[in-house]
Amino acid sequence: MLNKNKQELIALFRHKCKQHNLNMTPQRTAIYEELIKSKDHPDSDDIFERVKKVFPDISLDTVYRTLSKFTEIGVVHIVEGYGEAKRYDPDTNKHHHFRCQKCNKIVDFHNKSFDNLRIPKSFQKDFRITNVKVLLEGICNECVKNN
Ligand SMILES: [Zn+2]
Ligand SMILES: [Zn+2]
Repeated sequence: MLNKNKQELIALFRHKCKQHNLNMTPQRTAIYEELIKSKDHPDSDDIFERVKKVFPDISLDTVYRTLSKFTEIGVVHIVEGYGEAKRYDPDTNKHHHFRCQKCNKIVDFHNKSFDNLRIPKSFQKDFRITNVKVLLEGICNECVKNN
């Protein structure tokens, strides 16, 4: 869950856009607002469907390019995937994910000991680790019930 309120996030967004010389157009703002409203780590199609309600003329391509731009300037993160459509995460703070292998739902969770996981020494020799994120996979309760 995002631990900042909407105004703070928008302020941060404005700041980042300014920093990167990106105009805060109404479309871009709407896309960002959709992102921070959604807790399901949407892909570009999901965002497109939602933003279309406000801007019926917007194209999927615009949404896609905007999301790439947002990723570039660091206001959203891409959820690591396995070849399917990219999923976007508006929460750029440290957190971890649970992913349901049946319905593909991705749920955020926080855990202090996961935040502080120690990287094996042997691994540090070959790779410079910049980020640690835990991904738990399994079946969510809903899917267990609907089985
Ligand atoms: Zn599920
Ligand atoms: Zn997340």
